[in-house]
Amino acid sequence: MRVLFVASECFPLVKTGGLADVVGALPLALSRLGTDVRVLLPNYPQVAGSLGRTRVIGRFRERGGEVTLLSATAGGLNVIALDAPHLFDRPGTPYNTPEGQDWPDNHVRFATLAGIAARIACEGVDGWRPDVVHAHDWQAGLTPFYIRLATVPCARTVFTIHNMAYQGVVPATELDTLGIPSRFYTADGMEYWGALSLLKSGIVYSDRVTTVSPTYAQELRTGEFGMGLEGTVSARAADFSGILNGIDDNVWNPRTDKLLPATYSTKDMDGKAANKAALQAAFGLEVNPTRPVFAVISRLAYQKGLDILLAVLPELIERGGQLVLLGSGDPDLQRAYMDAAAGHPGRVGVRIGYDEPLSHLAQAGADAIIIPSRFEPCGLTQLYALRYGTLPIVARTGGLADTVIDANDAALARNIGTGFVFYPVNADRLRFAVERAIALWYGAPDVWQRLRANAMAQPVGWRASAERYLELYRSLPARGPEPAKEAGKNGAAKSAPAKATVIPAPEKAAPPRKVAPAKSRKRSTAAKNDA
Ligand code: ADP
Repeated sequence: MRVLFVASECFPLVKTGGLADVVGALPLALSRLGTDVRVLLPNYPQVAGSLGRTRVIGRFRERGGEVTLLSATAGGLNVIALDAPHLFDRPGTPYNTPEGQDWPDNHVRFATLAGIAARIACEGVDGWRPDVVHAHDWQAGLTPFYIRLATVPCARTVFTIHNMAYQGVVPATELDTLGIPSRFYTADGMEYWGALSLLKSGIVYSDRVTTVSPTYAQELRTGEFGMGLEGTVSARAADFSGILNGIDDNVWNPRTDKLLPATYSTKDMDGKAANKAALQAAFGLEVNPTRPVFAVISRLAYQKGLDILLAVLPELIERGGQLVLLGSGDPDLQRAYMDAAAGHPGRVGVRIGYDEPLSHLAQAGADAIIIPSRFEPCGLTQLYALRYGTLPIVARTGGLADTVIDANDAALARNIGTGFVFYPVNADRLRFAVERAIALWYGAPDVWQRLRANAMAQPVGWRASAERYLELYRSLPARGPEPAKEAGKNGAAKSAPAKATVIPAPEKAAPPRKVAPAKSRKRSTAAKNDA
């Protein structure tokens, strides 16, 4: 089974969030099950700087520009880097200028990625043709669509929604630029509130759709979480499933983690105490083993509910706790947490920014992690926390609900609790959860230790989920016959020339449509132009 992953991030080459962790780890887990996976991603400066030796395996013209495909291996991954300096050799993050603005041509940048993925799906590259193309999030959302446009048999497609809140919304006037014939601009196609949604394209045109936890898969069918695409998701119900993310045991393992001052395991927890002291020192907190340290490692975005935590901070401190926060994002929240640190010296420590090694220290050194997300497709930080014996305090939503067992009386009686779960997502319920945690910390340290042992014993690796993905790939009908060159049977050794276009050119005759917002629809706050 040959699978091409298509994504905009991949750990350890380039990461802004959980997507990168998944795209970096799942291929390795699939390889261990005998799958031949390659990961196609843009050759941003971060990627170019991390890839060692590369080999040119293809040159194409795509969306009007010259692009080169480079093959390399990195951390056990087989990578195909899309080298297109006019699109990707830029400072800033994969999506933003150094000033934090979206690049205005993001839709063209990622349509180029999708277009190249479709070529590989249909023509192959370097003598390799995938059976399945697995595209991730809106950045790869046009991949299944371009494959549908092809005039030859191509790989089958799976599309994974990592977060419905980011949809890649593009003005409808860009149809032609993206090579989308106007007949696909419909409510059943990729039209979204009078614009185009690249995420919707992935949902509508792929053979199978997945998201990253069973609960989020249910939530996406509701108006509360579906962000206007609940109908689209429901229409694909027969082909839609939730498969929980896992963690990369080689990167996130307290027994072997080289980023920690001290390693530890369930059998010998001394190292955790050493990490706690190092964490308290690193954040300028009173170094005191008896105080419960709560951690937050997060983007500071509305989704993550960290405004709610601010309201609970006074009680957390009053009852003896400490807080460390590592994150960046919303300027108002950054300021509010900086103010909190200034107002509670020795008790609240804040680091604004993105710091991978510090995130490992926080996971290992804290006693509990707080994740008050309003929605959370899967969430990875609670999985790392479980593995590191750091009890998660989480909102009951999405993957958080699927992975943390609340230490209520029933769970305590059966000794199966792994953390604290609260609902609904508001300050009162979060306060209650934090108070329960602090009461256990001070009042029943033996119970805390049992919860910690339960947490560390949870199977949070990738194996079970990788098996489910493989099952899904295998359930897809086989693609059509190989092109003549690869079949090599009927004496038809002449394949189409390497540059043959199997994806039809944009409909030149169709002028860009002028589109008025659909009158019958309310404006969706989710129609954020994140493309
Ligand atoms: P999301 O993808 O929505 O941001 P996830 O929980 O799925 O949330 O994944 C977040 C990933 O990003 C985790 O690997 C987490 O450790 C990491 N992360 C988030 N903020 C920071 C930060 N400020 N510094 C280092 N790592 C961070």
